[in-house]
Formats: sequence, structure tokens, C-alpha cells
Amino acid sequence: MNSDPDVIVVGGGPCGAFTALNLSRLGVDVTVIEEHGEIGFPSHCAGHLSVEGLTRLGLFPLTSDIIENVFYGATFYSPRGRAFSIDFDWPVTCTVNRSLFDRYIADLAKKEGVSFYLNTRVESLIIEQESVRGVVVNYQGRREEIRTKIVADCEGVTSRLLKQTGLHPINNLRIVNGLEAEFENVENIDLKKVEVYLGHDYAPKFYAWIVPKPGGRAKVGLGAENGDPRRFLERLMFKHPVASQKLKKARILNAAFHPISLGGPISLACTNGFLAVGDAAGQVKPTTVGGLIFGLTCARIAAAIAKAAIDKDDCSARSLYQYQRRLDKQFGFDEKMMLMMRRMLNLLSDQQTDSLIDFCAKFKLDKALRNVKDIDFQGQSFLQTLRNPRAIASLGYFAYILLHPNLMNT
Ligand SMILES: Cc1cc2nc3c(=O)[nH]c(=O)nc-3n(C[C@H](O)[C@H](O)[C@H](O)COP(=O)(O)OP(=O)(O)OC[C@H]3O[C@@H](n4cnc5c(N)ncnc54)[C@H](O)[C@@H]3O)c2cc1C
Repeated sequence: MNSDPDVIVVGGGPCGAFTALNLSRLGVDVTVIEEHGEIGFPSHCAGHLSVEGLTRLGLFPLTSDIIENVFYGATFYSPRGRAFSIDFDWPVTCTVNRSLFDRYIADLAKKEGVSFYLNTRVESLIIEQESVRGVVVNYQGRREEIRTKIVADCEGVTSRLLKQTGLHPINNLRIVNGLEAEFENVENIDLKKVEVYLGHDYAPKFYAWIVPKPGGRAKVGLGAENGDPRRFLERLMFKHPVASQKLKKARILNAAFHPISLGGPISLACTNGFLAVGDAAGQVKPTTVGGLIFGLTCARIAAAIAKAAIDKDDCSARSLYQYQRRLDKQFGFDEKMMLMMRRMLNLLSDQQTDSLIDFCAKFKLDKALRNVKDIDFQGQSFLQTLRNPRAIASLGYFAYILLHPNLMNT
């Protein structure tokens, strides 16, 4: 194996590979260690991303095999099937083939000189004098030690290594069960809009989605706070007044299950010789479960801070704390707002959700939302939207129905 690289990245998912790519572009010697035999597998994600976010990261345009569809808006359905749509004149989001997307980033990193070790699992960190000094790996059945200046933990939501450092891991209480499935024979679907389904019977304390693809295919998934997500998917397919019509002849081609963290980022994502990036650090939007743009943006920051620390020959917690500072400064406000939005949405009963969706449609809230510039970091966008009287009226109505739980549907 590559002996003693400057940085070891644990996990060859998108955030790991993008951290490595950015480090390598800055001239840092970096090795990625991935436990699976192939980058991008298994895949468990809808790959629904903002075009603006990808462009900011230098990852757009993508080739037509990676991009499966582009979207000009979204329709939100209440439990009773009431609808509220937002339309834009330009492509706002897209869906990518997650396996190919992950492979694309890894290939870019390889071209920049990053070494990838597949089928290799990091079992533990080497910690000496309270500093992370390397990793112990299981490589082709042998245990080996690799020393380094910085370990970037990009293990995903399991984040086992983080626990070894003594940093607070992501909040287990806020983890929901995620399901992502590929369907064929989906009917009556607008190819240009993603569909969001709300309601405790279909996705308690989160939502379900249909992300259309050409040829009658769609990615269908959900997050559910408790219980077996398969049961909720069945209800969506057979009971939801709108989704059941679209999915009545549909067939499931494959399905994957994976936890989703909705608790927001951990309070501290670095210590001596160690940085956590992506899902490992809870860098996922609690409102929508979007972890890719958020995690990849943090990966780029992590790479810049790691490079500066290596140049100074100071990889202490104090030096790497610049990473946390940048994260707090750039995303602190948005994270707090998104967590607050998630908590408020979780409080709504099905009846209140029906009523709210109705209200948003009647008061044409879409006109206020059309001016939103950034759908990734939603705190600032929320404030921007509130300049529009329709948005203030909707927020007022939201507060009103929360305070009047027995409100009857209009
Ligand atoms: C059902 C579902 C739907 C989603 N939909 C979307 C969406 O539409 N849009 C969006 O932006 N986000 C979505 N997400 C979230 C998104 O999938 C994650 O935010 C993203 O995958 C995080 O990337 P990552 O690199 O941090 O972690 P991962 O993609 O989980 O990658 C971690 C990698 O580390 C490897 N690894 C772990 N431990 C070790 C170890 N000890 N040694 C070696 N390798 C190791 C794993 O094998 C894996 O390859 C969804 C998530 C779920 C569950």
C-alpha cells in the first residue's frame, strides 16, 4: 500500500472521493480506503440534486449517462391528495445515477493522482498522545498499519471511527429508516417535476418521493421515523389517493434500505489529526435529506484546511479548528433554520398538512417561492422569501394551524 500518505480518506463515497480530489489538486499526497470492491455500490440514494449546487462545485454539466432527468419544479401532495406545485422556467434540479456519479468523482480523483484501495476496511484509528496518527486496515485479509498526518473520516452515517476520537457522534435519535426503490410502468407522471408525498401513514415525520425518469420509470422512496419502510411504501402504492393511481401497474425492480440522519451536523467535526466530512459529520439537510451538495461543499472546505495545516506542519486540533469555524460561519444559520423547519413540519397532523397544502395552493405561494435563488442552504432563502406578502401569509397560516390542532379542514 501507499506508505504514509499526507492524508488518508476513509470511505470512497462521494464526500470521500471529493475530499481526495480537492486535496490532490492542492498538491497533497492522499490515499482513499474503501471497504467495498467497487466504487458506487451498493447505491441507496435518489441522487436528486440542485443544478446550482452542482455548478458551484464544478460538477455540472455531467454526461448524459450520469444525469437521468432534469426537473423544472415540484408538486407536494397532502395525505388526502391535495396538491401544491411550484414551476420554474429553468432546470432547478436533476437526478443522477448515484453509482455512476460516485464513480465519476472517484475517476477525477484518480486522474489527479489519488490512490484508491478497494476491498480494504479501516478497522480502527491509531491514536497516540491524544492525536490521530494513522489507521489500522484489513487489507486482503492482513492487518496493516498506515501512518499519516490527517485522517479524513468519510465513512457515511455509521461514523464508527469518529466515536473512537471522543467527538460526539451524530444524534441516533434523529435517524430515520430510508428506502429507495427503482420502479417501472409508472403512469400519469409529469417528467419535469419531482413529487413529494406528506403524511404519517406514508412517511411518518418525513416524506415520500417519486422522482420520474424517462420510459415510465421512477425512483420511489421514503424516510420513516419508526417501523418498517416497506410497510409505508405499500401504503403509498395502494392507499394514497394520488400515488396509488400512478403506481397501480408499477413493478419494483430493486430496493435498498439505508439510515438517514436528520439531526443536523455534529457540533465539532475535527480534533488532533482528524476531520469528519459528509454523512459521518451529519452534513445532511434535515428538511430534505439532501446530503450530497452539503457534504461535497464541506469536503472542499476540509481539503483547503487540511492543506493549510500540512503546509504549516501543524495538524493539531487548534489548527484544524479552522474547518469548524468555516462550517459554522458558512452554514450555521442555515442549519439552525433547517432544523427548526423540520421540527415544525414534524408537529403537523395529517389534517393540518391537508389544510396547509390547500392554503399554499389557494394563496399561490409558488409565486413567492419562484424567486428563491438557493434551494440548498434554505435558511437564507427562507428569509428572502419572507419579503413576499404571500409567504408571510402562508407562514402566518402555518403558525395558526399549529396553535389550533383541532382545526377542521377547509
Ligand atoms: C434513501 C436515501 C435517499 C437519499 N436521497 C438523496 C438525494 O436525493 N439527494 C441527496 O443529496 N442526498 C440523498 N441522500 C443522502 C446521500 O445519500 C448521502 O448524504 C451521501 O451518500 C453521503 O455521502 P458520503 O460520502 O458522506 O457517505 P456514503 O455515500 O455513505 O459513503 C461512505 C463510504 O464509506 C465506506 N466505508 C464506511 N466505513 C468504512 C471503513 N471503516 N473502511 C473503509 N470504507 C468504509 C462505505 O462503504 C461507503 O462507500 C439519500 C440517502 C438515503 C438513505
